[in-house]
Amino acid sequence: MEDRVLVTLDGALEDPDSPLLYADDIGALRGDGVFETLLVRRGVPTALEYHLGRLRHSAQALELPDVELSKWRSAAEEAAKVWGPEREGVMRWVYTRGRDSDFEAPTSELAPETPKPTGYVLVSPVPGRVAKARTEGVKVMSLARGISIDLAQAAPWQLLGAKTLSYATNMAALRFARRMGNDDVIYTSTESRVLEGPRSTVVIARDKQLITPPAKNGVLPGVTQRSLYNVAEKAGWDCRYESLFTADLFDCDSIWLLSSVTLAARVNQFDGVRMSAPDNADEIRDLVEQGIERSGSIGDW
Ligand SMILES: *Cc1c(COP(=O)(O)O)cnc(C)c1O
Repeated sequence: MEDRVLVTLDGALEDPDSPLLYADDIGALRGDGVFETLLVRRGVPTALEYHLGRLRHSAQALELPDVELSKWRSAAEEAAKVWGPEREGVMRWVYTRGRDSDFEAPTSELAPETPKPTGYVLVSPVPGRVAKARTEGVKVMSLARGISIDLAQAAPWQLLGAKTLSYATNMAALRFARRMGNDDVIYTSTESRVLEGPRSTVVIARDKQLITPPAKNGVLPGVTQRSLYNVAEKAGWDCRYESLFTADLFDCDSIWLLSSVTLAARVNQFDGVRMSAPDNADEIRDLVEQGIERSGSIGDW
């Protein structure tokens, strides 16, 4: 059983314990690139087509070379197959602008010659915190993101709808929350609107309604959330994209942080207030599971 699996975009299986990046890779120099994180289950990458669609969308937002979907698809399938069906895995896709030295254009500020982006797929074990978050839920605090819900539309260069590699502040927010005795974070806007987690989508349940903030508020569209909505709609839930105030988080039946690896983590404490599990908590968890199992082959992102 492999401990890590590494496949490059040309389909080559690489030794995950050997260096792969050049020192001048722009992904490392500037965080200038995009990524995806997927769950590997039973030897296949889950919600594959959705992740491909979002990768393409993120790459377009950064003006990276077009994503070669068939190469990513086969690299992901190959890596998941080598990983095997025995246990879950975390699959990461990394796609960067490539080597700085390939862009040397001392006189012209324009167009590099032939862009050679860096792309690879890495599978590793699921971190220990995941099992606990799935079963026991997470303690969450709100943290200011310092942006308005209008920023996404007013400032497209902020790349709020893209999953970029520039996640240093997201990781800092999580460390801050941990120092304060929490497991995770819900970001809020300058208007006290709910945004998202540093690596997850916020969905609240109220009666037979599911509500998540719309992408135009400056949150990343979530694969897990969308997969949930697909099946929840059919199961009779009223699934909405609506702006939420932080006050709404205290006035609902349950709050969920959704993400591709952890799937559904119920918020069991928010800003110091305990939230007990509602009767339909297992139903919601089941819908998320069904959702990601079924969104394997649907395309439109
Ligand atoms: C990845 C991510 C999400 C959504 O997670 P999915 O894996 O798409 O379900 C939400 N917010 C942020 C900031 C993320 O990085």
